[in-house]
Parts: sequence; C-alpha cells; structure tokens
Amino acid sequence: MNAQPAQLLDTRGRPLRDLRISVTDRCNFRCLYCMPKTVFGRDYPFLPRQELLSFEEITRIARLFVAQGVTKVRLTGGEPLLRHRVEQLIEMLAAIPGLELTLTTNGSILAKKAQTLKDAGLHRVTVSLDALDDATFRRMNDVDFPVAQVLEGIEAAGKVGLAPVKINMVVKRGTNDEAIVPLAEHFRGSGHIVRFIEFMDVGSSNDWKMDEVLPSRDVIRRIDAVFPLEAIDPNYSGEVAQRWRYKDGAGEIGVISSVTRAFCSTCTRLRLSTEGKLYTCLFADHGHDLRALVRGGSTDQEISDRIGAIWRTRDDRYSEIRTAETAARRKIEMSYIGG
Ligand code: SAM
Ligand code: SF4
Ligand code: SF4
Repeated sequence: MNAQPAQLLDTRGRPLRDLRISVTDRCNFRCLYCMPKTVFGRDYPFLPRQELLSFEEITRIARLFVAQGVTKVRLTGGEPLLRHRVEQLIEMLAAIPGLELTLTTNGSILAKKAQTLKDAGLHRVTVSLDALDDATFRRMNDVDFPVAQVLEGIEAAGKVGLAPVKINMVVKRGTNDEAIVPLAEHFRGSGHIVRFIEFMDVGSSNDWKMDEVLPSRDVIRRIDAVFPLEAIDPNYSGEVAQRWRYKDGAGEIGVISSVTRAFCSTCTRLRLSTEGKLYTCLFADHGHDLRALVRGGSTDQEISDRIGAIWRTRDDRYSEIRTAETAARRKIEMSYIGG
C-alpha cells in the first residue's frame, strides 16, 4: 500500500486528482468542431514520432502524478486507438496501484479493440457520438464514416465489461441539435450514459460562435418534454457533468455546461500533451515542458518538485471569465491537448 500523499492544492484550493494524457495528435475523423479540414488538411504538420513521449516515459510520469494525489488517468488524443500498440501502454498504466484508467475514443475501431483493451486493464471507455442519423453523423465527422460502426463499438465495449459506457455528444445548434432526443431515446434503458456537451471555444480553428452553443438547460428541456427527467446528486464533488435521471427508471443522462455554467471552481484536471507538455487548463496558450526534464536526466524527485510547483501556482478559471475577446484569442487545439 502507498502512503497517502499530502494533498497538493492550487492557488484556489483545488486538489490535483485527474490527469488526461494525449497519446497522439492524429485522428481519422475531421469533426467540424475540433479538426476542421480547412486547417487540418493533407499538409498539416502533425508531431513527428521522435517528439512523442514513449510508453516508458508516460508511465514514469503517471507514477509521479499518482504519488502527488492523482487517482484517475484518461487516455485521449487525437484518436488514442490510433497510437500503435496503445494496449501495451494500458497494461503498463494498469499496473500502477490505485489508479482508475479510462479512455475517450471516437469509437471507429472500438469493436475490434474492445476485448484487448479490457484484457490490458482498461476500466471504462467514453465514446463520442454526435448523431444517430447516419447522414448527420457523416457530416459531423466529415470523413463519411458510418454511424453503424461506432454503435457496434459501443455494444462491444458494453459486452466486454468496459461499462457503463459514457457517450459524449457535442451539441452544435443548427448542425446536430435535432439529434438530441433520438440519441437519448436510443440509449434509454441500455445502462449506458449519454452526456450532452456544450460546443466550446477550444483551440483557434473551429470558428466558434456563441450563437451555435445550445445551453444545457435547453437540452434538458427538450428531453424532459418527451421523457420526464429529475435532477440527481453528483457522484462526487467536482463531477463535471450534472446528472439527471428518467422518472420512469430508464437510467440517467448528463449535461456538461462548460460555457453557460462554468465549473472551474472544482476543476482538478491537468493535461499532458503527446509531446510531454503539461497544461493546467483546456484553454491554456502555453504548457510546461516535462519531456525536457525526463529526457534531460532529471531525477524522479526533481520532476515531482516541478509538478508540485506547477500545480501550486495554478490559478486558471477560463470558463468563468470567458468573453468574446478571450474566445478569439489564440489557444492550443483540442486534438493536440486531448478533451
Ligand atoms: N478522438 C477522441 C474522441 O473524439 O472521443 C478523443 C479526443 S476528443 C478531442 C475528446 C472529446 O472532446 C470528444 O468527446 C469531443 O467530442 C470533444 N470535443 C472536441 N472539440 C470540442 C469542442 N469544440 N467543444 C466541445 N467538445 C469538444
Ligand atoms: Fe478526432 Fe475526436 Fe477531434 Fe473528432 S473530436 S476530430 S474524433 S480528436
Ligand atoms: Fe478547468 Fe480551465 Fe475548464 Fe475551468 S476552463 S474547468 S480551469 S480546464
């Protein structure tokens, strides 16, 4: 048993609990709100292989984070299942005691991979799914990918026990908001949890406009009109999604209201980019280079001290202070930092 680490707090008294690790900046989708083709075209300069943290480097860093109080690691990207032999990384991370290990995926190759991911020690998956209707789904991913294959992936994940599967839908008003009620209906009673996410101004490529954000309260109103809902308590303090359940007992849904109801005051997340930069906020414009320490011969203690110093001086609260001016500022891309 590890000794309980002293609690590390940032300048706003928030503990460090979650680490999101981006394992690739590449993706086989070009979702309109994340990697629009106009920016992420054929010539886009993705990171060369030698820039990527190796599995050994990621595992070493993750262990140091766990010693600092991290209890959850989420693998993300880009599309994390595209990272060569990602199952091997999962096996290495799963050997760290006391860690909850999850992964967010677009689900495109999940049907094929679900069993190996489970066998490697992954606990749960979150699958992004922006519509049930095939034509809308193909338009959202912008590479003509059929929705049926993602649905197969979700089913496979449920079957092998990567459950409950969380299903993330990014809602863009006027683009896929008609998909809200059908998606809720499809997964009612399945044991899986659909979460509706407000379209955010991450990065500088997605041409974000406030007009295209459908507030979560409207999402709830639309579903409640067909399938009555009631609010339920969070599972734990700082849970990002607000939870609602169907009054008839058919399960629950969540809404993530990063734009209309900021949750910075309880944000316990840090993000590690594919090339080893640490970001204290999804909307940051610069990161802290951990790879330089790892490759420069720093000891575990030196790296831990650096992590501690970064967290202790953290004061981010972007979503609480968002304005049209901040939204237009240059920020790192979602596909680079991971969701
Ligand atoms: N490729 C994987 C996937 O799509 O699940 C993992 C990476 S993706 C960047 C992580 C999450 O960020 C996805 O659920 C995606 O829908 C969400 N996301 C990306 N851009 C977003 C935006 N502008 N607003 C809200 N959510 C966004
Ligand atoms: Fe790829 Fe995920 Fe971004 Fe879509 S949201 S482009 S699947 S990284
Ligand atoms: Fe956390 Fe930054 Fe999002 Fe606020 S805006 S919840 S500080 S990641």
